[in-house]
Formats: sequence, C-alpha cells, structure tokens
Amino acid sequence: MNDRLHLNVPIAAGPQARGVTRAVQISWGATRLQVGGGAPVLVQSMTNTDTADAIGTAIQVKELAQAGSEIVRITVNTPEAAREVPAIREQLDRMGLDVPLVGDFHYNGHKLLTQYPDCARALSKYRINPGNVGTGSRRGDNFAQMIEVACLHDKPVRIGVNWGSLDQELLARIMDENARRAQPFEARAVMYEALVTSAIDNARRAEQLGLAGDRIILSCKVSGVQDLIAVYRELASRCDYPLHLGLTEAGMGSKGIVASTAAMGVLLQEGIGDTIRVSLTPEPNGDRTREVVVAQEILQTMGLRAFTPNVIACPGCGRTTSTVFQELAASIQGWLREQMPAWRLVYPGVESMNVAVMGCIVNGPGESKHAHIGISLPGSGESPVAPVYIDGARSITLKGERIAEEFQAIVSDYVARRYGQGPGHQPQQNGAGVA
Ligand code: SF4
Repeated sequence: MNDRLHLNVPIAAGPQARGVTRAVQISWGATRLQVGGGAPVLVQSMTNTDTADAIGTAIQVKELAQAGSEIVRITVNTPEAAREVPAIREQLDRMGLDVPLVGDFHYNGHKLLTQYPDCARALSKYRINPGNVGTGSRRGDNFAQMIEVACLHDKPVRIGVNWGSLDQELLARIMDENARRAQPFEARAVMYEALVTSAIDNARRAEQLGLAGDRIILSCKVSGVQDLIAVYRELASRCDYPLHLGLTEAGMGSKGIVASTAAMGVLLQEGIGDTIRVSLTPEPNGDRTREVVVAQEILQTMGLRAFTPNVIACPGCGRTTSTVFQELAASIQGWLREQMPAWRLVYPGVESMNVAVMGCIVNGPGESKHAHIGISLPGSGESPVAPVYIDGARSITLKGERIAEEFQAIVSDYVARRYGQGPGHQPQQNGAGVA
C-alpha cells in the first residue's frame, strides 16, 4: 500500500516544560500567589503615578489590578512616598482589592524601609536593584539592611538587576579578569556575565544574611531582544530562583509590543520565566493598563494561560470593501473583555472560548466552524446574510442593520448555556432554524 499519510507530524508545537524553580509565596489579605515552582506565569505591572499622591496611586493600582495585573509595583523613592504607602494599601483594602504591592527601591531603600516600618509592612515584596544600593563598604551594609527588614517582616524580595544601572564595581572586576585571559571574551559576553553574576551573587548573599532561599526572585533586564534571550538562558541555567521576565525600556506602541513579545516569546517557549511585565512607554495621557492587556495576550497567545475569550478575525482584503466586519470584530473584542470580570465569577472556563468574526465566504465558514461560535459576514457581491456557526454547526443566519447586537446576544446566550454549568458542560445544539 502506498501510504502517503505523515501522521508522525507533532499535533502542535508547545512550550517546553517549565524550568524547575523554587516556589515563592507573595500574599496580601486573602490573596496567596505562588511565583515559580511550576505555578502559572503571573502578570505584573507598575504604576507611573507619584507614590506620594496616595489617592492617584491607589486609583491606578485599582485600574491595573482590574485589567488583570496580579501584582503591582509602585516606586518608593522619597520619605513622602514611603509615608503614603500604608495609605495606598488602606485605600485598596477598603475597595476590597487584595492585589499585592511591590515597593521599588533605589539608592535610599535601606533608609526608607527602616525609617518607615509601616511602609515595609504594607508592601508584599521589595524590589532591590543591587546596582543602586551604594558604593564601596556602604553597598554591602545598605544591602544587608534591606535584607534584614525583609527577614523581619517575612517579605520576599526581587533582586532586580538592570543593565542601565549595573553594579559598576562588579563590572570593572569582571572586565579586569577578562582582560587577563589569554583569549578575552567579547565585551558583550562580559556584560552578560556581569548581569548574571550580580543577580546570583546578591541572591546568595541575601541567603547568607538569613533570607530564606524561597523568598528570592531574580531578574536581569536589558533593552535588546537578543541580549535578553542570551542573559536569561544563562541565568536559568545557573540557578533555580524563580525569574521575572521583562524587556526594559521596550518602547512605545507597536515597537514596544513587538520587541517584548519577540523576546519573552522565545524564553517562555523554552520554559524560562515565572512572572512577566511588558514595559511599554504609554502615549501622553495614554492608558497604563495596555501593558497588562499585552502581557495577558502574550501568555494566552502562547497557550500558557487563558484570560479572555479569543477573537479570531481575518485581516480583510479586496473581497470585503465595507468596514462592517472590522467594526464587529473590534466591538466583540471590547465587549468580551468588559464582560470578563463578571463572567469569570459565574462562567468558569469561558476565558478559553474562541469567537470567529470573518469577512467573507472564502475562509469565513471554515474558520467559524473551528471556533466555539463564529459569524461569517458577507463579502462584496455576496448575498447580504451572515450565517452563525455554533460548535461547528451552522445555526441561525443574521441579516439587516442589527447584526452586531444580535450576534452579541447569541454569544451571551451561548456563554450562559455552555459555561453556566462549568467548563466541561456541552450545550444543547441551538434549535434556531437555518434561514
Ligand atoms: S476571509 Fe474573505 S475577506 Fe477575510 S481575508 Fe479571507 S478572503 Fe479576505
């Protein structure tokens, strides 16, 4: 028999097994999050308000948390900021938001954490940049002081190295060692080594100072995609601390999104990374929550987590000259995201739903059949009707001016029937006749 089937093709490429990292607990109130140890990759973000403005900061933390940020970092840079951290925490508690807050410390963290113990208590984690804790003998003392506070209040820390503020003494030492080699490494490799060494050496030092090994998370942020991949591969190969991923200073708009996705996509595919942040520069007065949505989309697109039903929409072409399907795709996507805070509570599993919105008959019916629910809009010259497909079968056909509203109602009804009784529930086939 001439067997022309090639069934040895893998069903789908998937992320490699996650690297085995220690499990670090981060908590506030009823919220208990695990970073590493095989837990789902968490989404983080950071405010850009003045932390001394407690109300403004609490409002932005709330917006970020409601958009899906599971941990929110705030800068703690001045005595005024440190003084307001407990007030921010109280505001959030009063709103019923248990999202853990991380304090971002540079230069004076040792003073602020010791002089403002209420601030130290109100935070759920401290981010320490070992390149910004002082120089010479003060460096070691300041670092030790921050670790002592973390031990005292039983808080985890992130040793967050950044190439823009790399420990210059360490870099100089490694450069000297490299220069003495018979065949010195290139400057870029030396920089990678300094970043990784800074993170790991400071983590080990924190452990020597009494911080438990399962209270430490590491990051080594750089702004180049290939640099980030190289540094994190090395970091992951040399330690088992959980890793926070992020491309620092990723940039604005599509550039920042593409660069972050390219870098983190490769690492996540290799099983590297336990939390992520997308460091987008917002447009002036832009929406800070965009970085949260992008982080969620990276994880969902890669099949690592599901947050919001996935809208499959075609790009459109010369076969569709109207903007109807673009408008419908955009409105359905926005509407689904708006529904999620409520749906998440009553329709478990709905975040994995696929909704297709297609522009014409060429791929519309096929793609709609693959989705849980889909609509194939009429292209140019086609009959002005839009068949709806539910669980692979053609169901009702819509026509007229109110297609968008009617399709939304059909999706609502489908969600209630399919997910109202749990994620495994199969709905009865829609009894609506085919027009
Ligand atoms: S489904 Fe139709 S309108 Fe959409 S891209 Fe394909 S051919 Fe063009």
